[in-house]
Amino acid sequence: MQVHDSRPPFAGLANLTDEALASLPTPCYLLDEAQLRRNGEILLGVQQRTGCRILLAQKAFSNFDLYPVLAPYLAGTEASGLYESRLGREELPEKENHVFCAAYRTDEFPELLQYADHIVFNSPSQLAKFGPAAKAAGKSVGLRINPQRSTQDGHEIYDPCAPGSRLGTTRAQWDAAVQQHPELPALLDGLHFHTLCEQNADALAETLPAVEAAFGDLLPRMKWLNFGGGHHITRPDYDLSLLEKCITVMQAKYGVQVYLEPGEAWALNAGYLVTTVLDTLQNGDTSLAILDLSAACHTPDVIEMPYRPPLLDAGEPGEKPCTVRLGGPTCLAGDVIGDYSFAAPLTEGQRLIFGDMAIYSTCKNNTFNGMPLPDIWQLCADGTLRRLAHFGYGDFKYRLGSRGGSAQPTTSVQI
Ligand SMILES: *Cc1c(COP(=O)(O)O)cnc(C)c1O
Repeated sequence: MQVHDSRPPFAGLANLTDEALASLPTPCYLLDEAQLRRNGEILLGVQQRTGCRILLAQKAFSNFDLYPVLAPYLAGTEASGLYESRLGREELPEKENHVFCAAYRTDEFPELLQYADHIVFNSPSQLAKFGPAAKAAGKSVGLRINPQRSTQDGHEIYDPCAPGSRLGTTRAQWDAAVQQHPELPALLDGLHFHTLCEQNADALAETLPAVEAAFGDLLPRMKWLNFGGGHHITRPDYDLSLLEKCITVMQAKYGVQVYLEPGEAWALNAGYLVTTVLDTLQNGDTSLAILDLSAACHTPDVIEMPYRPPLLDAGEPGEKPCTVRLGGPTCLAGDVIGDYSFAAPLTEGQRLIFGDMAIYSTCKNNTFNGMPLPDIWQLCADGTLRRLAHFGYGDFKYRLGSRGGSAQPTTSVQI
C-alpha cells in the first residue's frame, strides 16, 4: 500500500513502513504516539502561556496504555462517573482527578470520594444531597451551570443549552434553590460549564459573556471556573490566541483558576482504523463493498453523530473514477460508513485506512451481531508497532450472562 497523504489526519502514517502496515490484523485500531505528543505539546503551550490547567476528558479517549505519553502535558483527568474516575486514579495517580455526572448514586458516592479531587454537581438538589459529604472529605466542590447560550447548529444531541436541557443549572433554578436552602452557596468552590462540541474559540468567546451575565456575581467568590470540553484546540485552524485571551481575561477579572477539559483535542487525528475489503457487489447503479469493520459496532459515532470519516487515498463521491458505498458485515441495513471515490475499483482483500479514529471509538465500541472487537495497537514514535489489546469470543459472551468467558466468577443470587 502506498501511504503518501501527508495531511492530517494521515500525517502520522509517514512513520510507518508498508511492511509494518501489512503485518497488522484487521480490523484494528492503531493509536499514533507521535500525534498524541504533538497534540500534547499544543495543549501544554496553552497552559504555560496562560496558567490554565487542562484535563483529559476520558470519555473521548481512555486507552490508558497511552496515558504515560500524555502525562507530561496534562494536569489531570476528567471523568463522567465512578469507573472513569477510578481509571484516572489508577493510571495517573499523581494527577488531579475531576468528575462530573448528571446524577450521582448514594451507593457509589463513598467510593467516588476515594478517587476524585474535584466533584461537580449538575443540580442544586445533588449539591444539597452530596455536597456536605464531599466538603467534609476535603474535596473541591463545583456546580455545573447552564449559561443558556447555544452556539452550535445541526447537532442537537450535543447542545446542553437547548430549551428543557437536563444538563447544568440555570440562574432561575439556582435562585429558586437558594431561597429554599440558603446554605448552598457556601458549599461551592467553583463553577463548571460545558456547552461546546468540536468548536473554535469564537464559540467560547460568545459563551463567556452569557456566563458572566447569569453567574458573574458568584465568580469573585470562586476558586476555579471550568470551561468544559468541546474546544477543538489541536485542529489546524483553531484560534489559539483568542482562546488564550478568553482564559487570561477571566482569570484576571475574577481571580479564578481556569480549567479546560477537552477530550477530542488530546487525541484528534491520532488514530487509524485499518480494515480489509471482504466483498464487492453491484446493485443497479450502486457499487458497494463490505468491509471487516462495522460502523454500528466499531465506529458508532459515524451513525450516531452522524459523520463520514476520512479515508486515506479516497475522494468525495464522484471525485475519482470509481464511487463505492462502504458498509459493514452486520445485518443492520444502515451499517454504512459512507460513499467514497477511488482511482480504481476496490478488490477483495484490499486494505483501507480510516483516519481520526482514536476518539469516541475504542471507548464506545460494542459486539452487536456477535462482531469481534478490533485489536488495539500502538504506532510508537520510532515507527514500530506494539499490540495493546486483543479480544475474543469471551469479550462478547461475558457481558451477556452467567458463564461469560472472561468474567469474574459470579455468585448466583438465591431468592
Ligand atoms: C463530553 C464532555 C467533555 C469532552 O468533550 P470533547 O468534545 O471530547 O472535548 C468534557 N466535559 C464534559 C462535562 C463533557 O460532557
